[in-house]
Order: sequence, then C-alpha cells, then structure tokens
Amino acid sequence: MANEPATGLRVLVVEDQRDIAENVWDYLERRGYEVDHAHDGVTATRLLELTSFDLIVLDLGLPRLDGIEVCRQLRKRGGSTPVLMLTARDTLEDKLLGFEVGADDYLTKPFALEELEARLRNLIRRTRRREMTGLVIGDLRLDQAAQQFERGRQRGQLTPLQVRLLAALMRASPNVLRHAELVTAVWGTEGGDSTALHGLVHSLRQLIDRPFKHAMLLSVHGIGYRLLQPADQGDA
Ligand code: CA
Repeated sequence: MANEPATGLRVLVVEDQRDIAENVWDYLERRGYEVDHAHDGVTATRLLELTSFDLIVLDLGLPRLDGIEVCRQLRKRGGSTPVLMLTARDTLEDKLLGFEVGADDYLTKPFALEELEARLRNLIRRTRRREMTGLVIGDLRLDQAAQQFERGRQRGQLTPLQVRLLAALMRASPNVLRHAELVTAVWGTEGGDSTALHGLVHSLRQLIDRPFKHAMLLSVHGIGYRLLQPADQGDA
C-alpha cells in the first residue's frame, strides 16, 4: 500500500531551513498529509502542547530550543507521538542521544523525500500495531494511547508518569529494573529521583495491586522493582 495517499494524517514539521521545510511540506501535502510547520523549538513545543499530531518530523539543530530538548520535553509530558529526527551530521553520538530522549527513527540530510515518507509510514504502522495490541502481562493490560489499564474486571485511568513506569516494568518483565533505570525511563535524564520513584510506585500499586489478592509490582530490596504475573510467583 506504499502509494496510497495518507489521508488526514497530521504531521508537524519542525525545521528552520526554509527550503527544506517547504520541500517537505509540499511533498507531504501532495501525498495527503495535513502539515503544520514550526521553524524553532519553542514554537514547536507550544504547538505540541496545544494540538495533537500523528507524526513529528523534528530537525536536531534548531534556534531557541534544539530538537533533542523538544523531544525530551514532549516525552516528559507523556506525549507518545512518533518522532522522526533529522540531522545534518551522521554521528553515532547524535543518534544515541536522540534515541535516549525518545526519538523513534533518524534520517540524515540530505535525504530523498520518498525515503522520508517511507520512514513516516513505517512509524505509523509500528505505532498502530503497538496501540492495537497494548502491553499484556497475565491479566494486566496497558493501553498506552488511552492511558488506561485493565486488571481482571478493574479498569482505570493512569497519569502520564504512571503509564511510563508501568510500560517500562511490563516491557522488562520478568526482569528487575534498577531504581536508576526506572527514574530514567520515567523522567528522562533530567528530573526525578528515587524518592519521586517510590511515590510513583506507591500510587501505581494503589491502582493495579491493592484490590487484588496477589501483588504484581514487587520490590527487590536495595535493587529495584519488577512486575510478575501471580503464576510466576508460585502462589497462584
Ligand atoms: Ca537546522
């Protein structure tokens, strides 16, 4: 279906180089996307706070606030919109930093517009698959897009930070995540500490464990936390 128009998908293009921004905008609009544009990081962040997008094309080097910081702040607020990062430099350092703050893919300039669109379609496919299946461990299910969990017949709403904590634990399960790893997974490389983490774990337990006979979110003393389905705990 590579040539089908992308009807109505909303893309935010954040790029300060006018010619590149215009080329990308024109191309994506002709392909059926609804395109918005920001030429600096501060404007992009404001737009992302006000409006929801399906995809973000984010240049790394931007005036006022760079792409790394825009992405970091978006994820910190719990925003899960897929981000394709653009960079003029093809360095491993840039890529690792981008992935660390939550970018989903990378494209090095100069690039072909066809490749840009192929990457965007791939990101949309990945996101849809993730949203459809959600994360499931035993009778616990997390829908990240809706920020909702289900355990047995209980169902509830989570905060963005609770979603990030639970998603990290579910992805790692049955392995233990260290306190520092969880702080990074929830708050990124800035903000958050073990006290905040303990508070967040406590609030999550009230929702997913308290009404049930067997807790799933377990402390591993002095190390971290893990999530196990009751059958794995040998007491189901
Ligand atoms: Ca730039």
